[in-house]
Amino acid sequence: TATLFIVPTPIGNLQDISERALATLSQVNWIAAEDTRHTQRLLQHFAIQTRTLSLHEHNEDKRTAMLCHRLKDGESVALVSDAGTPLISDPGFVLVRRCREEGIPVVALPGPCAAITALSASGLPTDRFIFEGFLPVKSQARTNLLQSLSDRTCTSVFYEAPRRILETLQDVQRVLGERHIVVAKELTKTFETYIDGTPAQAIDWLQQDPAHQKGEFVLIIGGADLAESEISADAELLLRDLCEVLP
Ligand code: SAM
Repeated sequence: TATLFIVPTPIGNLQDISERALATLSQVNWIAAEDTRHTQRLLQHFAIQTRTLSLHEHNEDKRTAMLCHRLKDGESVALVSDAGTPLISDPGFVLVRRCREEGIPVVALPGPCAAITALSASGLPTDRFIFEGFLPVKSQARTNLLQSLSDRTCTSVFYEAPRRILETLQDVQRVLGERHIVVAKELTKTFETYIDGTPAQAIDWLQQDPAHQKGEFVLIIGGADLAESEISADAELLLRDLCEVLP
């Protein structure tokens, strides 16, 4: 049985590909790619000639069966997505789960991931965080999800599409008010920008120039500061206990 390698690729800057990623992509029998044409450009840049086949959300079930078969026959496979780490808001879960179930070795290479890149530079607490992927597209579902952040004390990390970033920040402002947020835009690319402040300040910046709303975004929302309400909850318990023992 051969190995399935999970291979992260750059999120903008081609220099972020690792030596090990290049060696793996050159040596495997197959590269399973989210979009073969997109990946072909990367492979051409690094003069890698490995054969590619597609694995995306619409054919993942069918492709998984075929790839497991080949892996068991001794043909190694590298899984890549268009950018960043496969399976992180990208295809691959079905394949990895099946490989594990069938005893096919899975090895992941560490590498670029927009969420972790943005978080590490955000200046927001990194000791505890929740990665939420993309926010729901429908306004009510998005509002509900944002409401669940009102008493969440850890940092939350989201991906957001350019056509929705402004609307999403308006929802964040409406639901969470003056939370500390960081919007990371075009990471590792020429126009990399961090907007660090309140939702209102981020909205202002996005509206300054139509170009500000184009590109790729990670939205990081700081945790709720519950120190005061925690004290009052404790105080409330104490009062209740006291009421029982006092005459
Ligand atoms: N698997 C990828 C990863 O590890 O980062 C994420 C794939 S997801 C389909 C694409 C989203 O990631 C974009 O909509 C954006 O929110 C975020 N993203 C990807 N590249 C980015 C970059 N260079 N700067 C900011 N955000 C980025």
